[in-house]
Amino acid sequence: MTAVAPVPRLVDQFELGLDAPICLTWELTYACNLSCVHCLSSSGKRDPRELTTEQCKSIIDELQRMQVFYVNIGGGEPTVRSDFWELVDYATAHQVGVKFSTNGVRITPEVAARLAASDYVDVQISLDGATAEINDAVRGPGSFAMAVRALENLRDAGFRDAKISVVVTRHNVEQLDDFKALADSFGATLRITRLRPSGRGADVWDDLHPTAAQQVTLYDWLVAHGEGVLTGDSFFHLSGLGEPGALAGLNLCGAGRVVCLIDPVGDVYACPFAIHEKFLAGNVLSDGGFDHVWKNAELFRELREPQSAGACGSCGHYDACRGGCMAAKFFTGLPMDGPDPECVVGHGESALAGDRDKPRSHIDHSRSGGRGTPAGPIPLKLLTTPPKKFCNESPV
Ligand code: SF4
Ligand code: SF4
Repeated sequence: MTAVAPVPRLVDQFELGLDAPICLTWELTYACNLSCVHCLSSSGKRDPRELTTEQCKSIIDELQRMQVFYVNIGGGEPTVRSDFWELVDYATAHQVGVKFSTNGVRITPEVAARLAASDYVDVQISLDGATAEINDAVRGPGSFAMAVRALENLRDAGFRDAKISVVVTRHNVEQLDDFKALADSFGATLRITRLRPSGRGADVWDDLHPTAAQQVTLYDWLVAHGEGVLTGDSFFHLSGLGEPGALAGLNLCGAGRVVCLIDPVGDVYACPFAIHEKFLAGNVLSDGGFDHVWKNAELFRELREPQSAGACGSCGHYDACRGGCMAAKFFTGLPMDGPDPECVVGHGESALAGDRDKPRSHIDHSRSGGRGTPAGPIPLKLLTTPPKKFCNESPV
């Protein structure tokens, strides 16, 4: 009888990295009309070095050659780029599907109708409270109404299956049923993700991240109601709270293996939540293009090596949790080979109580006064070219 070779598990294949990322985020601009307190990219002001339309199109050509099937476009607020729709059309015409995240500012009835006519564009509206009170405390006054108006416009235009994207915090975790009902009322899909201490999120993480008891509530809710709710695999650090496999997903930090970020100036980071020199793999303009960076960057080679379990090695949940999120550990100042700051057996809490040196990102495009206090929406004045220098006159 011939022995049949075991089929490798997906997670083992992904651990070694792939020829192309399966979850590529591309932040088109750091400009934003809002200043959410937890913004992962500390967005606000446009960067004068922002990639031009032609440079963006070259990246799309490369993604097509690499057979990247879709890209998550974000920012900042990507729709404030004057060439945003041109780039979306260019990507979809080149077999690169687009999912973009927006606060809804530009989703007018006309835009919604245009989006409804495309099969290759998915829209994700950010909302961090099921009520204006909870949402606007994080995203700024008027931002709830703006997001709901965008959802109404999409629904009225016949856009099918928009996504409502929620970062779970201490203040909205009790609203999960309300978020689901809200999504259902718009014929949308709920997507919930983890609050990471990245960008401005580092400043508010201690106060906003769900408590240990709330993590259990969240886990139980996902197990009971998670069918049809998207999570982007971001809660795998909670897997140890129940039976193995109860939470669907890969249970793996994909940074540099299957996940990466291209930022507005073409810098490539291992993960959208890891904007820091330590996780900078290269630049698409100066390092031979995205394909070259993805395949050859020293950092990515290191991340694709088997990682040490470190202090988590003796934990019975290690197979399910793998020590949690690299970015969450790094930006809270915890050892990279130790437990996640929200470790379900409590190791994170004791580690957080000790002395920590929290690294700060070298990137901060926050408008003055933006850190820690959400400002209301600012009027949009589109520039067709990036400003010559950083300034506060117009964030876009
Ligand atoms: S660093 Fe965290 S957010 Fe990024 S891929 Fe790893 S687990 Fe996911
Ligand atoms: S000790 Fe490590 S592997 Fe175990 S649950 Fe905590 S973070 Fe996960």
